[in-house]
Parts: sequence; C-alpha cells; structure tokens
Amino acid sequence: MQDDVAGEGYLDRIAMAVQMTALAPVVGDSVTGVKLEATGDLHGSPCKAVVRNYIIADFRSLAAVFGQRVAWREWEMLNVSDHSRDSAGLKYIYPVVSRRAGGVSLGINLNVNNACNWRCVYCQVPGLTRGGPPPVDLGLLESELRELLADIVSGDFLARNASPEARRLVDLAFSGNGEPTSSADFLAAVESVGRVMSAFALPESVPLRLITNGSLLHRPAVRKAVARIGSQPGEIWFKLDAATESGIAAINGIRMSIDKVRESILACAELAPTWIQTCYFALDGKESSRADQAAYLELVATVGKKTKGVLLYGLARPSMQPEAGRLSNVARDQFHQFADRIAALGVRVVANP
Ligand code: SF4
Repeated sequence: MQDDVAGEGYLDRIAMAVQMTALAPVVGDSVTGVKLEATGDLHGSPCKAVVRNYIIADFRSLAAVFGQRVAWREWEMLNVSDHSRDSAGLKYIYPVVSRRAGGVSLGINLNVNNACNWRCVYCQVPGLTRGGPPPVDLGLLESELRELLADIVSGDFLARNASPEARRLVDLAFSGNGEPTSSADFLAAVESVGRVMSAFALPESVPLRLITNGSLLHRPAVRKAVARIGSQPGEIWFKLDAATESGIAAINGIRMSIDKVRESILACAELAPTWIQTCYFALDGKESSRADQAAYLELVATVGKKTKGVLLYGLARPSMQPEAGRLSNVARDQFHQFADRIAALGVRVVANP
C-alpha cells in the first residue's frame, strides 16, 4: 500500500474499495474503528477516501459495515470563499484561507450554536440567532488544536489542503459563528490556546488574534483575556462599521452609544495591539451617507492613532441574513477614496475591497 494516491487510477481505487469492503466484516470486531481521510486533490469528493493506514476505500460501503466506528474527516482544499466552520470535521477548530491574513488561519469557534449578541446585515453565519454560546469543552478544544497543529507543523496538512501560495500558517484566530467574548469560558479558552501555542513553539510571526465586535470589553474577564492575547504575541481586530447610533443599529442590529464604542476601542488598544476592522459596502446600492462617513472619520481621528490602523474591506462572502439582497460592494474608486480619507487623518489603512 502507498500513501500517495494522486496518481492512482480510478479502477485501482474501485478494486481496493471492493477489497476493503470485503475485509471489513472480517476485521470489524477486532479494531476500534476506521478513520477515513479525504485527499485534498479529490476536492472533497464524497465517494473516495484514504484510510489512515493507506487503504483506499469507498467510505460509504465502509461506513455501512463499521457503522458508528467510521470517523470521517474531510479536509477539503481550502479556499478564500469557503469559511465553513466544519471544514475539518472538528467542533471548535476550523482551518480557512484568510485573504486578509494571506495564508491558512486556524479559526477557533466558541459559538457552536450560531448565537451572537449582534446581528450584522452582512453576517455570513447561517441560522444566526441572538444569544451566547453554550459552555466550552476545554479539553476537547485543546485536543482538537493539538491534533491539527501537529498535522500542520509536522505533517503534510498544508501541502494537501492549501494552494502553493497559501501554504503557511498565518495565525490562530478566535472568530467563528458569534461573538467569542460572549462565552463565559473565553478567558479559560484563551489561556488554553496560549498553552498549546507555547507547547508547539510557534514563531512570533504566528500571532493569536481575536476578531471581536468589542461590545463586552467592560467585563473584567474579557479585559484580562485581551491582555493575555496581547502578551502572546497577538492582536485584536475590533469591528467598527459605523459611528452613529443609527448607523450601528442599521448595520450591526444593536443599540450602542458612540461614547461606549470610543471607550472600548481605547481600552482595547491599551491592553493589546488593536486594529479597527471596518466593512465598507453599499446598502440598497448606496454607500453610507455623508453624515455617517463624517462621524466615522471623526471617531477614527480620535482613536485611530492609538491603534495599529484600520483594516478596510468589502464584502468577500455572501451574507446569510435576510438583508443579503440589499448589499453590494461599492465601486472600487469609491472604496479607495474612502480609504484615502482615513489615511489623510494620519492613520494607517490596509484596504482590501
Ligand atoms: S458580530 Fe460577527 S458573528 Fe456577530 S452578527 Fe456580526 S458578523 Fe455575525
């Protein structure tokens, strides 16, 4: 048997599948189970797989014989448009190619129930609900992270799953299907991830990021976690899409005072390197009003120099919210004009239309 099936013929695979399926009833009771792993070159084909011990099989036939003891893990070839949280078949950890970070990012999703305390019109989370996440199984989170990091650092995960230009681990990021800081276990999760990163001796070029709406920065445990991320090394991407209460209500679906937003950004920047992260897009074909743009620029002028700058980006993936049909990217020249107005404040801008 061999571990590289890229050059194997289809008939060979079928023959092996038949052999494996015939073998299954014989060995079935004497093994714990069978772990299947799809090859990246198959692009997530649902019918072929490579068994850990390098036996090619039809996993559906195997699954029928081994029942629940077949663990299917499908590492699809990762791409920038697919940020599904179950791309690795794990509960908390999901690898994605991040266009903003320029490589493979390991996402950490604590909000496994798709619940968030905000409801942004561009949110890509399907079935988004209001609320917070359930308790985190920290042991499972840590073991999932160790397994995936081992495959990335010592195995061939990147070669199998990422295109050549994206074959580098760029960060670990608390992100996912809701606001990570809303988890009661957020601080413990940050400490747990920090321990694993230290155990793997990841280089300083692989930071721990927190992508947050920043609405819970007033909680002592969240501040402690942010400070811990800042010492990792790490950084915070702090969401700021609008700087009027009406703009925040329209885009993010919450009521929040601008004073609180300002205080939270400043507090965050004191605790850890912080980027302001802004999605700039058109609603019903129009970019934000001149008044909303002016308010945004005024706020960025006040707090921007305390931060690392502004990550300005457009809509990369489709919204899963009812407003999806009302959203579009602004014209590129409009986008860059807005970026130039931020830069004119003396604040660094990374523009990604
Ligand atoms: S804060 Fe993030 S997860 Fe929550 S609704 Fe907005 S985009 Fe979605």
